[in-house]
Amino acid sequence: MKGIYVLIIRVEKETVLNVGALGALTLNPGLYAYVGSAQTNLEQRIKRHLRKEKRFFWHIDYLLSSDAAKVVKVLYKDAGKTEECAVANALSEKGVPVDGFGCSDCDCRSHLFHIGADYGFLWALMKGLSLA
Ligand SMILES: [Zn+2]
Repeated sequence: MKGIYVLIIRVEKETVLNVGALGALTLNPGLYAYVGSAQTNLEQRIKRHLRKEKRFFWHIDYLLSSDAAKVVKVLYKDAGKTEECAVANALSEKGVPVDGFGCSDCDCRSHLFHIGADYGFLWALMKGLSLA
């Protein structure tokens, strides 16, 4: 399967991450939404995100390896990279972007957003897979 996905991530306490070239990032506790795409092997990509042990490759790897971060939901759909950025754009209207995160290969401001509990609008855009 190929497609795009949104990870809903709970950060349990204030967390300082060193995210490669982005440098040090301080994340406040709360919910975050991360948008990504895997144009091959979507299932394996999601499984990789859920594993703590891995070599860091993407910005999101630094966040998800933190003990304070937990993926609580995964949403996905069969779609291409254009739609990945459209979902990021929809999230930017509801959440606070973490500048430069996860968007090295596009023109978005971010692919990671601090969001509130009202992320139900995502269910209209994506199919849900609950891990909570
Ligand atoms: Zn983008």
